[in-house]
Amino acid sequence: MSKNIAGEELMNKIVALCKRRGFIYQNSEIYGGMANTWDYGPMGVELKRNIKDIWWKNFVQERDDVVGLDSAIIMHPETWKASGHLSSFNDALIDCKTCKSRFRADHIIEDALNIDVEGKTEDEMTEIIHENKIKCPVCGSIDWTDARLFNLMFKTFQGVVEDSSSVVYLRPETAQGIFVNFKNIVDTTRVSLPFGIAQIGKAFRNEITPGNFIFRVREFEQMELEFFVKPGEDEEWFDYWRNYPMEWLINLGLSKDNLKYYDHPVEKLAHYSKGTTDILYKFPFGWEELWGIANRTDFDLNAHIERSGKKLTVFDHEKGEHIVPYVVEPSVGVDRLVLAFLVEAYTEDIVDGAERVYLNLKPELAPVKAAVFPLTKKEQLVEIARDIYNRLKTLFNTEYDDSGSIGKRYRRQDEIGTPYCITVDFDTIDDRKVTIRDRNTLEQDRIDIEKVRDYLLERI
Ligand code: ATP
Repeated sequence: MSKNIAGEELMNKIVALCKRRGFIYQNSEIYGGMANTWDYGPMGVELKRNIKDIWWKNFVQERDDVVGLDSAIIMHPETWKASGHLSSFNDALIDCKTCKSRFRADHIIEDALNIDVEGKTEDEMTEIIHENKIKCPVCGSIDWTDARLFNLMFKTFQGVVEDSSSVVYLRPETAQGIFVNFKNIVDTTRVSLPFGIAQIGKAFRNEITPGNFIFRVREFEQMELEFFVKPGEDEEWFDYWRNYPMEWLINLGLSKDNLKYYDHPVEKLAHYSKGTTDILYKFPFGWEELWGIANRTDFDLNAHIERSGKKLTVFDHEKGEHIVPYVVEPSVGVDRLVLAFLVEAYTEDIVDGAERVYLNLKPELAPVKAAVFPLTKKEQLVEIARDIYNRLKTLFNTEYDDSGSIGKRYRRQDEIGTPYCITVDFDTIDDRKVTIRDRNTLEQDRIDIEKVRDYLLERI
């Protein structure tokens, strides 16, 4: 029977397990730590890599209509003028004059008055805060500055001279790297509409309120697909790309009950969007966006056509003319996916009267697929176990462990989500059989050493 743990308690347990077992560490911890910045340890990097590899396989390699890209993080500054990020990628911030705390103005209003202020200017928000005498959540004062806009892009300088002509930005989304390479891909590959360009890479946003562990961070990884279609076919494709990620998440182990759609009301759509749907996940801190799907129309390509003067079109064989396609974008954060899979997988149960923790990850996501243990350090057992390990590690990520009690070794593998543990015991010497233990059911199969490989390949 697994225990029911939720909310803050669940988050605390996940954060502790991530540290304890080498999934995620606080960044720069020896210097006191960088707030809200996290590093992926040996287990975390495997989990993250598995997520990215499966996405790449399913969204790019197995499809005939999608190609991949890996573009640079620092792009020509004109990109951000064209995309609108320089003028409108802003949050309005307001400071408490008494305690000097800084907040997002929309959050202060929404929390205090329970009204939605999307679309309001910073002056309008200042007025609402002052008129309603909203109190500072930290010190209770009502002495506020005016709200000011704050651009979320990280700014830096390229080259040796630090002047305005050398200002560059760290990309806040990977999508623009795709749009600026649209012509290259059309000219150098055999794509024809409808087709997609996909990319996985780092994105940076100077978030005002990062938090909830790896949910909202300033440096994160995105997996984005820009799927170009004929205008008129965009709504059909929007539906397709609304469904496909949902099925993908469910197949990889997220439960249907913890997932739902949020369709943005038309009046609140971003300037570039004709339709936006978020896939929300029930995190321990509430329902939050996991994946955003947007019908970005021809906004981005047209903006780059206008600013660059280049022809970003594709030939429509039916019409016999060059057209600017529409684009549908499913965009997801890898770090948010890592967190969702960890939340879903974290399980506590009681085994033989003792509490145990395990990660119920699908084998394809598990950092380690199998662990091999000799029951004791007796030479003959070690030799057989090492031999099995050496054969398996060329097929998938496998661990060998001969330290401590067998119970302790099982506990460690359970906590990192290893689906199968193979134990070599004294009987193995005579019968050439080993015990394979299933992480979830704890059932043990005794099978020939020669069959271990196939046994595992069938199941992971
Ligand atoms: P939010 O409303 O949560 O700030 P957003 O709507 O700004 O997100 P998008 O611009 O649609 O996010 O980005 C696409 C995806 O990138 C999001 O669905 C999310 O998974 C991920 N993402 C965005 N911002 C962050 C962040 N600060 N930290 C981690 N992942 C992020």
